[in-house]
Amino acid sequence: MEDLFFSDKEIRLQKEIRGFLKKELEPIKENINKNDEIPLELIRKIGAKGYFGPLISKEYGGSELGMISHMIITEEISRLNVAVSVTRTPCILDGITLFRYGTKEQKEKYLSVIARAEKICAICITEKGAGTDVAGIQTIAEKKGGEYVINGSKRFITNAGLADYYFVWALTDQKVNPRDGLSIFLVEKDTPGFITDNPYGLMGLRGVKNGTLEFENVYVPKENLIGEEGKGFQMLMKTFNVERLTLSSECNGISLAAFEDSKKYVRERIQFGKKIATFQAIRLKIAKMATEIRAARLLTYSSARLWDLGKEVTKEASMSKAFSSKTAVETTTEAVQVHGGDGYTDVYPVERYMRDAKFFQIGGGTSEIQNLIIAREELK
Ligand SMILES: Cc1cc2nc3c(=O)[nH]c(=O)nc-3n(C[C@H](O)[C@H](O)[C@H](O)COP(=O)(O)OP(=O)(O)OC[C@H]3O[C@@H](n4cnc5c(N)ncnc54)[C@H](O)[C@@H]3O)c2cc1C
Repeated sequence: MEDLFFSDKEIRLQKEIRGFLKKELEPIKENINKNDEIPLELIRKIGAKGYFGPLISKEYGGSELGMISHMIITEEISRLNVAVSVTRTPCILDGITLFRYGTKEQKEKYLSVIARAEKICAICITEKGAGTDVAGIQTIAEKKGGEYVINGSKRFITNAGLADYYFVWALTDQKVNPRDGLSIFLVEKDTPGFITDNPYGLMGLRGVKNGTLEFENVYVPKENLIGEEGKGFQMLMKTFNVERLTLSSECNGISLAAFEDSKKYVRERIQFGKKIATFQAIRLKIAKMATEIRAARLLTYSSARLWDLGKEVTKEASMSKAFSSKTAVETTTEAVQVHGGDGYTDVYPVERYMRDAKFFQIGGGTSEIQNLIIAREELK
């Protein structure tokens, strides 16, 4: 992968982030899972290194490293504990949305603190009636003088309760097709009438704060409208490409971790007087894992390269996401299998990888929808 896609600068970045994470994340990666808590201090340290701002220009406090570098950073964090990366992802997505569509004043006020993780973000789209069907959003933002009044609710929002800035998709025009009536608003935490809650736990991603949002007559100044009124759906479609590539790298990080752990285990575990790595059934699993992880990473890094070249990547991002998430689910399931009974305990991290991997076939657009997008692009 490195030989095909990485520049010398990107190879240095990979080495640098590995060194940084070995010191800062490796020692606590299992505690995060056990305590269901990601230390905010860790997030701040990752941000201070510039790893929250690879897609933001230096002018606004970013590190301007590009998509390949963003994939490297994401993959490396996810190899150790993907929940940390999932907490970072909304900051990347809101950051790129603001960078692309925000006014100069908005960027000066908000971007540099997002790019350095001094402020945490949430991306707020999903509602009870609007999951896969984003156009089903019912949250309303009504213009009243120099303000908008937001009413409605959201669910499944990553960083609910943790975030400082909530980028909220709401209808500003209920009479038109929702694709032309959605707008984006930045709602700061502690705004009166805005309530967050974390009423459920997750199957995996321990440490991630996920929950619901309620907006009851929440007044936000018109200066908090991001981009043009009524263009929220179109802006979201562009942001989705970045989300799909980011989630692909998170999947690839999990797959790499599961694969590395599996190779170590099968080389050590002895049954019938032999290392289990010598049994053909085990070797076939290792071969399948290796090939599929390489294919998933090739899809992801080639899509990232296209993005860095300024090309349209809707189809490629969906291919990467659908394939990388399938690979992560299959690889982690096989990793548990080759670990036998040990794999089913919480002594080995493979059970965590398996629980974490499943999220990626659902979040950021389900696999069914990714495949429908691929087919739509191929058949148009
Ligand atoms: C841990 C976690 C974190 C999340 N973080 C965020 C976040 O930060 N912000 C945010 O806005 N959302 C977030 N989500 C929400 C996530 O994006 C949605 O769960 C996802 O888009 C699916 O929507 P849904 O849950 O309503 O499922 P549904 O849309 O109800 O789908 C149910 C099933 O029906 C299938 N389906 C639906 N429509 C079709 C169709 N047209 N054709 C074929 N199959 C179809 C789906 O593929 C799925 O299998 C998160 C979810 C989870 C679990």
